[in-house]
Amino acid sequence: MIVSIFETNFNSKKVLVRVDFNVPLSSDGKVEDDTRIVESLPTIDKIIDDGGIPILMSHLGRPKGNFDPKYSLKPVADYLHNHLGYSVIFAPDCIGEAAEKAVKSAKPGDVVLLENVRFHKEETENDTIFAEKLALLGDCYVNDAFGSAHRAHASTYAIAQFFHDKYAGKLMMDELHYLGKVLNNPRRPFLAILGGAKISGKIDVIKNLLQKCDQILIGGGMAFTFLKAKGLDIGKSILEEDKIELAKELLNEAEKINVPIYIPEDYIVADEFSNEANSRCVSANDINANDYGMDIGYKTRELYKQLILQANTVIWNGPMGVFEFEKFSEGTKVIALSLADATQKGAITVVGGGDSVSAVNKLNLKRQITHVSTGGGASLEFLEGKTLPGVAALEI
Ligand code: AMP
Repeated sequence: MIVSIFETNFNSKKVLVRVDFNVPLSSDGKVEDDTRIVESLPTIDKIIDDGGIPILMSHLGRPKGNFDPKYSLKPVADYLHNHLGYSVIFAPDCIGEAAEKAVKSAKPGDVVLLENVRFHKEETENDTIFAEKLALLGDCYVNDAFGSAHRAHASTYAIAQFFHDKYAGKLMMDELHYLGKVLNNPRRPFLAILGGAKISGKIDVIKNLLQKCDQILIGGGMAFTFLKAKGLDIGKSILEEDKIELAKELLNEAEKINVPIYIPEDYIVADEFSNEANSRCVSANDINANDYGMDIGYKTRELYKQLILQANTVIWNGPMGVFEFEKFSEGTKVIALSLADATQKGAITVVGGGDSVSAVNKLNLKRQITHVSTGGGASLEFLEGKTLPGVAALEI
């Protein structure tokens, strides 16, 4: 059983909270996008409102197990104070004297932010002794870092063994609720839309979703490996030669269990891989040797839109085209807008991390989707049907 922070009261408790403050920083060390910080505020506020003291720990970037000012969480501490109005005590190390001193000096109403846990190589090694040193700083443990839950690290996994009182934060609970509902209890028809550059990395997602959903719509670069598997020419489009057989197997399996996999029937192709390229819409049978497949075509957009509007549950992961180029972002836009329309009609819509989240944010549609997952790798592993170590560790 996993217990939510809303099932307890943290009055007078020191609450060790694993958050995901792995935010992009500018070259002069300013927070460029505060989404991940803002998303953990409900959990932090609940602890403060109860009369507890949140002691926040996070990683930032990939320092090699040593102090590196480039990856310091100090700018995040400043941001929490200057922009979000929190009373923040920053501990220049996440364990030892510096951390203990910061925790000791904190009063109710304060927030302690510990320095980057990855400044110690023991963090990614899931080291028990290091985890115990972190654990000593708090009376109870909360994990709100869904985006890191697929990794068994000291602050997400080993640490949990030192606590009887352990909880999932609000963000973690929301992720488990919506992703879990989609996978285990969907209102049908249940539609999955998968795109992105490649099949590899999403093979287990496709396999798992084939068992769970009613239809799968394919888009993005991965469509071309499926086209090749069907014996069509794909010109210079992205291809995973070593996944053609697998694509065939997936199509056969889908046919056997009667879950249609839709491969786009038309494409926007370009004469070069750039936003300035000349482009045209062609049917799947008419891709020339020099064409780059860049986006799904007009007929496919219309068909996918109709299928989305007929669904009661939709999960989407991966763009339909090279959406970083404005010229080839239309297919992805149509999917995002269709999800928003479907949500308004009462469907549960979930965007499962990664580049599709950027697309939704770019179009300002986040509030019109039931749930936009914060965890790229974590949500993919969840959709593969795997148990996430950071979630398993919270079980009591
Ligand atoms: P992923 O991380 O697997 O979800 O892939 C996202 C990437 O897929 C984005 O950078 C897109 O530009 C890329 N992508 C989508 N469609 C295509 C395509 N037709 N050809 C090449 N790359 C693509």
